[in-house]
Amino acid sequence: MNYYSLHHKSPKVSFKDAVINGIAPDRGLYFPENISPLNQEFFNHIEYFSNEEIAYEVIQQFVGEAIPKETLKQIIKETIDFEFPIVPISQDVSSLELFHGPTMAFKDVGARFMARCLGEFNKTNNQKVTVLVATSGDTGGAVADGFLDVKGVDVVILYPSGKVSDIQEKQLTTLGKNITALEVDGTFDDCQEMVKTAFLDAEISRTLTSANSINVARWLPQMFYFFFAYKQLKNKDKELVFSVPSGNFGNICAGIMAKKLGLPVKHFVAATNSNDTVPNYLEHGKYTPKPSKATISNAMDVGNPSNFIRIQELFANDINLLKKEFSSYSFSDVETKNAMKEIKEKANYIADPHGAVGYLGATQYLKEHKSANCVFLETAHPVKFLDIVKSTLETEIEIPFQIQVLLHKKKVAKKISSYEELKSHLNAD
Ligand SMILES: *Cc1c(COP(=O)(O)O)cnc(C)c1O
Repeated sequence: MNYYSLHHKSPKVSFKDAVINGIAPDRGLYFPENISPLNQEFFNHIEYFSNEEIAYEVIQQFVGEAIPKETLKQIIKETIDFEFPIVPISQDVSSLELFHGPTMAFKDVGARFMARCLGEFNKTNNQKVTVLVATSGDTGGAVADGFLDVKGVDVVILYPSGKVSDIQEKQLTTLGKNITALEVDGTFDDCQEMVKTAFLDAEISRTLTSANSINVARWLPQMFYFFFAYKQLKNKDKELVFSVPSGNFGNICAGIMAKKLGLPVKHFVAATNSNDTVPNYLEHGKYTPKPSKATISNAMDVGNPSNFIRIQELFANDINLLKKEFSSYSFSDVETKNAMKEIKEKANYIADPHGAVGYLGATQYLKEHKSANCVFLETAHPVKFLDIVKSTLETEIEIPFQIQVLLHKKKVAKKISSYEELKSHLNAD
């Protein structure tokens, strides 16, 4: 399988080079040249397949010859060795829990898969690669955990000081070894800007790659759990709608890819917080990126979602085609908190703020359409947003073991406030 750049000014590359480069030399995102639907038999009998078998079917064409079959199966096995349960909330709405991985957010799947692919490619490569990544919260922890001890790979994580939750900060600052955390005096946008500048800077001596969802090895495995959801649905006659709490729009774009592979999905709802660039675009037909605003669903505080261009590509850059299968709604922090309370009252279920935004997207869809099987993605465990969950719901939550062990660890981060400091850090050794 080859990948082309969405800016169309760089040569096509293999899966391996797309993963190593992260982004094409012309700054375009990579996109697969072909998308071949899976066999109808596979969908008819999906409940007889294990998650590992499903994941292999789904990803295989996108990896192609780049990784031997048995190795790919092993990578998949290590990537998804946890549960992806669906929990009913009301008659038409259920929660797909994606937080049962090591860092308790859905990004574990993409980060683990990418780390193992890069580790495989580095087996025969003596040059070290540095993964440089900006995080608004969850990416950092998932990438740190996924890449810990991967041979030949150093990880440098930039995060905005004071703008990630305590637990998120612990997850990315306490591992040590090949993982370095840089605490940036600024916003997530500033972090992302520094990372982009570093990629363009010819004076950086290290080989850099990205582990944001622009990287195809992080983006594509996110298709898996849309299939896992379908497998679990008992009532397959009701039309399936996914509501995805969205920031950089990588997750929902993977869902749309799953549909291109034949997954019977009626509609996608991209639920956002007050960072409403995409809902505005659908309403007014003009894409106007804005600086990000801080909200209680901080992992979605993105003003210029990098994967939206891939979604447009999937709909031939035609907004009318897009609108037939895709809606996007924005919700305020007040609405999000009220949704958390409503979910607790109705279903005795504790949703984190991101999942609550997804729930709001599902209920908004149901207001405008008839009954459907609406599944929202619960993208993080509520404990990751402990303060806000506790104060909104006036309840205690049990702290899972993998988080408890973190709380006693010491944060190690280097403070930086300018690009020059990042550059000298990267060129130091
Ligand atoms: C990253 C993240 C999102 C947004 O996902 P995108 O793929 O960037 O749209 C939503 N919820 C949580 C908890 C996240 O960590």
